[in-house]
Amino acid sequence: MKSVSVKLPALKQELIRCKDSIKEVVLKYSNIAVDEYALRWNYNAIEGAYRKCFKEISNNINRIDLILMDYVKDCFVECNGANVMIDWKETFKLINNEISTGRNVTNRLDASRRSFRVKNFLKILPTYEILYERKVWGIESTKCPRCIIEVETWEHIWSCENNGVFTEYKLFSDSIEEICVHAMTDEDSNEIKKFKENLVDISTGRSMIMPLHNMIREITRGIINEKWMNVCKNKNFKKILRDIFDLYLMKIQEHIWKERCNEVTEIEKQKGLFKDLKRKKRDAEDDSEDKETDNTKLENSKNRKKIKKIIKIDLENKIKNDVFSVGSSNRHRIGNNIISNLINT
Ligand SMILES: [Zn+2]
Repeated sequence: MKSVSVKLPALKQELIRCKDSIKEVVLKYSNIAVDEYALRWNYNAIEGAYRKCFKEISNNINRIDLILMDYVKDCFVECNGANVMIDWKETFKLINNEISTGRNVTNRLDASRRSFRVKNFLKILPTYEILYERKVWGIESTKCPRCIIEVETWEHIWSCENNGVFTEYKLFSDSIEEICVHAMTDEDSNEIKKFKENLVDISTGRSMIMPLHNMIREITRGIINEKWMNVCKNKNFKKILRDIFDLYLMKIQEHIWKERCNEVTEIEKQKGLFKDLKRKKRDAEDDSEDKETDNTKLENSKNRKKIKKIIKIDLENKIKNDVFSVGSSNRHRIGNNIISNLINT
């Protein structure tokens, strides 16, 4: 474990350092968990020392790292260096739900919040775009099932017209008010006023990390930009700011994401699409494969080879489950060590 955690960041550092000279760093997504992956430069597989190095990396933890690397590459490679503005320590505290909940506390609520925040940060909440890509049964298009206008991407979740009164800005300003009312009795009222104004100002400014959006979208994803912390006069203000972000993420989970899920479940029920059906694959051929899988599991437990194969195929999903399963002893290893390993290179 030790040698791995030393070796891997160096490799990733190399990747990030060479991001301008290596135009195409392609991770063979579907193969990554099962087999290996190919590094490519101008569509040619990279052979030699680089490749050999990567071949040596074969345990699950490193695969998770690489899968995650692909998920968060927009925070490093595709933002022209704006990533230096991200306060990762604060960011991961927020994503790991460690602001209002102690590090060693686990309960259902914490699990649900943490799971939401991690998936949200990685932009892998089960939107129709993602379910369609996964070929989930009954999902016939990427269109948002609520407004039926736009593709339901991660971004669309927050701007869908069906969100009603619950916009990001409303929830953010509600969070500011709620926290400030309770928390700022010791502070000078002028300073409080200025602090609040600063926060609103920042939230409406352009994001450098997500150039198409405003700064509030960074917070929606759980990313804390140093700009926020820089307007805090003192420690008290910093604490208050953390609480505001924490409350804000609770609110967007509750009022936007959960509401969206309830509405979509209703729409799906009307279409006769129930939860267990959604576990199946959409395509007919995959369907028959699934049946075979079930039969193999049920009747043919002797046939170890086949099961082994199935397990292999399922590996990527399992890895993801590991990443997001909470309450297990791996939680901190995964939440703090792996992701921050990935980020801190
Ligand atoms: Zn919509």
